[in-house]
Order: sequence, then structure tokens, then C-alpha cells
Amino acid sequence: MVSRSDPLKLLHMVSNELNSSLDLDEVLGKIMSLVVEVTGANRGSLFILREDGRVMRSILARGPNQSAEISNYNVQKVMNEGLAGWAYRHQKGVVVADTSMDDRWIHLKNETEITKSAMAMPLVFKKRVNGVIILHQESPGYFKNSHLSIAHEIAVQAAIAVENARLFTEVDNEREAFHSFLNSMPIPVIVVSRDCVVFRNRMAAEKLQIVEEKCELRSFPGGVILYNVLQKEDRESVGNAEVVWPDKRVFNVSISKAMHHGSVIALNDITYLKELDSMKSKFVETVSHDLKNPLHFIKTFSRLLRSENGLSRQAKTYVEDILSSTERMQELIESLLDLAAIEAGLGGKVEACDIAEIVKDVLVRIEPQISSKAITVVTRFQEDLGHVIGNEIRLFQVISNLVDNAIKYSDEGGKVIVDVNQTESEIIVNVSDEGHGISPTDQAQLFQKFYRAKGNDPEMPGGTGLGLSIVKAIIDSYGGRVWVESKLEKGSTFSFAISTAHHEKHTAALEQQ
Ligand code: ADP
Repeated sequence: MVSRSDPLKLLHMVSNELNSSLDLDEVLGKIMSLVVEVTGANRGSLFILREDGRVMRSILARGPNQSAEISNYNVQKVMNEGLAGWAYRHQKGVVVADTSMDDRWIHLKNETEITKSAMAMPLVFKKRVNGVIILHQESPGYFKNSHLSIAHEIAVQAAIAVENARLFTEVDNEREAFHSFLNSMPIPVIVVSRDCVVFRNRMAAEKLQIVEEKCELRSFPGGVILYNVLQKEDRESVGNAEVVWPDKRVFNVSISKAMHHGSVIALNDITYLKELDSMKSKFVETVSHDLKNPLHFIKTFSRLLRSENGLSRQAKTYVEDILSSTERMQELIESLLDLAAIEAGLGGKVEACDIAEIVKDVLVRIEPQISSKAITVVTRFQEDLGHVIGNEIRLFQVISNLVDNAIKYSDEGGKVIVDVNQTESEIIVNVSDEGHGISPTDQAQLFQKFYRAKGNDPEMPGGTGLGLSIVKAIIDSYGGRVWVESKLEKGSTFSFAISTAHHEKHTAALEQQ
């Protein structure tokens, strides 16, 4: 028997009960039994309320450790019309000395127990009632103010426990919803924190064979690849990478940093796209090769024909047309074969290259275009630029493609700026123009083979739509990045970034460790 005269001991017991288990029903059941015992009530009930005031659960106690059921209908009735509802609405405890004289007391049908006096106490947390305790006694005038104070002290603690349980359930439900959302995704998703997988969805378990729900990142096949991608992401914030899995599948890996919670990695299997692309490239390569010789013949014989005497003016025009078409076809074929070679990893020998020197060489080579359109070209090189690792001819090709385009898509008298900067790990080259700009839809596709953002411009300069694909293939082959920023009618900036030679050496040393 707990003494009512020792409130401190009572509170201590209540807090012990509240901390004894995570099962709220069990804890509140015990507390109700305690309340019934210390107040000397015959029985009691506790209604736990939702935020809208509707009863979520009811817990009953009659004497120590006994509980019984109460129908939903009756619960709702006492909440709507009875003493429990009054305590809820007024947010304060109340004693009913004689239930027959107080119309806040509802006499329920088929009630077997007699209640002559009663007490109600709301559980209030931050001005919100999240539960109500009702106590019953067979004798009239039983409950006094001292009972109210005991019930109040217990209710304060119980309100906190109910609120904590509500928050816990809310968080738990959100976590569940989040997990089931990730589990229903059709691609593998994993969450990595401190080099450990802390979550993997169903697809990741199935497709990447990550058996354990939580494990070290490097403990499953392919984990080392993701580990290296994450290391690179930490250094360069790329957000995206293409990786080849140990079983030769190709994945596009997207990484998003979740503040303080590690990284979310989504893997998209693009093996079939890669296969299609390689089939297409092989086909184009074969056709290009087969066309090379006949085109050469056409060109040679057309030239011979042009030098023939006695050709009519009309015939000369035809020959000129044949020659210029043949040259365009040859240009296209050279670009296609170039692209195939770069994609096949035959981009030439790589060594330390001086980007500033390459930019200067490019500007000398395209001087005729620059002056024919009266373009002002400005170069800005950061001081003490380091070297990059690449092939000088390929890098020349990249920069001349970008500067060529900047001139080609600028109006006469326009301005083109080439600036070269260096960060801790990369050299970044920006080629800006004040041309007509590119719409956001076109920007997303510019680097695809044969894509030309024609817009509505009938005056669009000629081209193959392969230049930027070649730029991308070359920069990709060095593990670099290429991107465009553009505003219609304002101009465009095409940029690429590649690791400095110094950084390449440093990373290679780190990866070997
Ligand atoms: P091409 O210039 O031969 O068409 P590219 O691959 O070099 O092929 O470029 C693809 C398309 O991107 C071009 O057709 C053009 O629409 C657009 N483009 C490239 N550079 C620029 C630029 N500096 N300003 C505006 N549009 C550009």
C-alpha cells in the first residue's frame, strides 16, 4: 500500500514506473493502478486523446492491477457530455461529491458498479490536454482537495510520458514511411555514413547483393568502387559518376549529401544503354570507314574534273557543289572516327600539358575567323597556373571547338573571353560569349551526338552537331567535367575542369595506400 502522506515517495514511484518500460499502455496501466491505490478510489479510467480531442485509447484500473473494457460509445459519451469532457474543456481537475446531484455525471445504461462520488483530472502538456483520468468511489463525498493534488502531480508526469510516446510514434511512423518509400523505389539506394552502410533498400539488397542491413561499405563486391566514388565526391563535389561493377554492369551513381546523416547513393543500371551506344558507335564507325575511300575518290576526281578545260559554267558550279558536299561529309566522317577512337580509349598519349599555351595556339589557328567577324578575344590566365594531365592534341581540339563555337554563334563585333583558373585540385577553363544564348531545354541535350539547338534561326551556321560530344568524350576520358551556363539573348559560357597534374599524382598515391 502506497502512503498518500508521502508525496515525494509517490512521485518517485510514478517516475520509476514511467521509466520502467517503453510500452506506454503497460506503463500507464501501472500508473492508473497506483492512482487508484493511493487515492483509495474503487476504480479509475484514463483516456488518451488525439490532437483533435478524440479518444485514441482507454486504460482502465479497478483496484491494484485489474483492468476491464469500456465501450467506444460510452467513452465518447463521457467525453462529449460528461465529467471527462468537462475536465478536457476546462483544462483543470474537478471533484463531484454526489454524482446523483451533478448533471456532469452520466449514468450509463447497464452499469453494474455504483459511483456515488467521482473526480476527473486532465493530463496537460504545453496547454494541450492529451489525456483525462477519471476516478470512481462508491461512497458520496469521498474525494477531497488532497486527492486532487495527488492526481494532479501524477497527471503532470503522465502527460509528459504521453507526449513523448506521441512524438516517438510520429517519428517512428515517419521513419517507416520513409523506409517503405525507399524500399518501393525501382533502383538500388543506399545510405552511407562514416564508411558504413546504414540503410539499403530492397533493390540494393537484391541487385547489389548487400546481404546485411548494416555493414561496412567495403565489405561487399562493388563496395570499394562506391567508397572511391565517395572519396572523389568529398574532394570535388561532383554529385554524379559512372561506374563499372565487378560483374561488368555499368551504373550511373548519384550522390546527395544528407547533412549530418551521411550520403544517399542511388544507382541506375545503364548497362543496356551502354551496350546500345557501343553497338551504335561500332555501326557508325564501320560505315564511316567504308565511306572514307569512296569519298576520297569522289574528291580527287572532282578536283581533276574542275581543272578540265572546256567545262561549261553550269558544269563548274556542279563540280564545286560536289566538292563542298564531299568536304562536309569528310569532316563528318573524321569527327565520327575521332569520337569512336576517344571512346575506345585511343585518345593518344597523356602527359603534363600547359593549358595557357594551348589556348594561345588555338587563338593563332583561328585568327582568320576572329578577324573575319571582327570579334574581340580577351584571355585571362591566373598566375602560376599548374599543368594538367592530358593529350596536347586532344586538349587543343577541346579548346578550339569551344572557341570556334563562341565565335560561330556570336554576332559580328562580339566579344569572347577565355579565362583559365586553378583551384586546389583542378584547372577550370571558361569560354564565354555574348551571342544569342541557348534555351534551358537545349542546354540539357547539347552534349549529345548530332544535337544542334536550331531554335527558329534560319540563319543558323552550318555544323555537324558533333563538336561538343567530342569535347565531352575527351574531358570524360580524363575524369573531368564539362558544363554550360547560358541565358537567351545574353550569351553562353562553356566550361570544363580537369585535375591538375600535381593533384593526379597525389590522388594516385592515396589510392595506392
Ligand atoms: P555544331 O556547332 O557543329 O552544330 P556542336 O556540338 O559544337 O556542333 O554544338 C552543338 C550545338 O550547340 C550547336 O549546334 C549550337 O546550337 C549549340 N552551341 C554550341 N556552342 C554554342 C554557343 N557558344 N552559343 C550558342 N549555341 C551554341
